[in-house]
Amino acid sequence: MNRNQFLRTIDAINVWKRGGQRAPHKPLLLLLALGRVLSGRDRLASYSRDIEQKLEELLQHFGPPRKALHPALPFGHLRTDGLWEIPGSDGLSVTSSGDLYVGELRRENIVGGFPEPIYDMLRNSPELVREAGQRLLDGHFPESLHDDIREAVGIPRTWEIHDSPVQPRDPAFRREVLREYERRCAVCEFDVRLGDELIGIEAAHIKWHAAGGPDTVINGLALCWLHHKAFDRGALGLTATGDGFKVLVSSEVHGLSQPLHWFLDFHDKPLRPPRNRRLDPKAEFVDWHQRQVFRKPPLA
Ligand SMILES: [Zn+2]
Repeated sequence: MNRNQFLRTIDAINVWKRGGQRAPHKPLLLLLALGRVLSGRDRLASYSRDIEQKLEELLQHFGPPRKALHPALPFGHLRTDGLWEIPGSDGLSVTSSGDLYVGELRRENIVGGFPEPIYDMLRNSPELVREAGQRLLDGHFPESLHDDIREAVGIPRTWEIHDSPVQPRDPAFRREVLREYERRCAVCEFDVRLGDELIGIEAAHIKWHAAGGPDTVINGLALCWLHHKAFDRGALGLTATGDGFKVLVSSEVHGLSQPLHWFLDFHDKPLRPPRNRRLDPKAEFVDWHQRQVFRKPPLA
């Protein structure tokens, strides 16, 4: 597999199955493995010692809210994409759905990693590691989470990425969303400007662009940087009221400092609607966010 084939395989990882349900398992395992390459660690990682706990944490922080996280799934399934190898795996038992048994992975201290030719190619090209990492981030997560994920897996931020396969953003999206929401955060009304320039107001997607959410006002919200990040991380959610939407704060939000009020004060409060009420957020996109991103349950 050469460089371009490798990048095409990365792009082709099929994780948006079953009606837009998020399954970031493979991307997160690959990002973890790319971080290992950059830090010079061995090609093969022990499932129980090196992968299980870290991948579980990544899934907990950046995956959809789920009771069971299943870090063993991508460890086995990435092999079918040609991006993973488990030496001696022929002797392992599999379930009827083709999954490896977690108990056996732990007990037998099973190791896995990139196949040797891919590992060597990555070792010789940190730029390729960053490019692959960027494609995984662009393909599966909103931009507001990229730095947090990079930091968690140990991939430094890069300043030059080319040939990204992700469709370019529609510049009209930002303009139209900000106009409809009168350049204010739809949660807290933050509207600070420096001269004519907005500071920290962003056009957020309700259904992530990376999950196929469209660049249209009915899938957008103007949010301040803090509430944008909180919304993408699932600390904030929305629910329909019959006459629009109200804001929900996750019961997982904690803190002792005064700024915590920037969350708690808005719980159960109406979301500021767009000027043209026909451009209210579309229920379908709000439902997606509620199911795939918001950390339930909300505060009581
Ligand atoms: Zn705000």
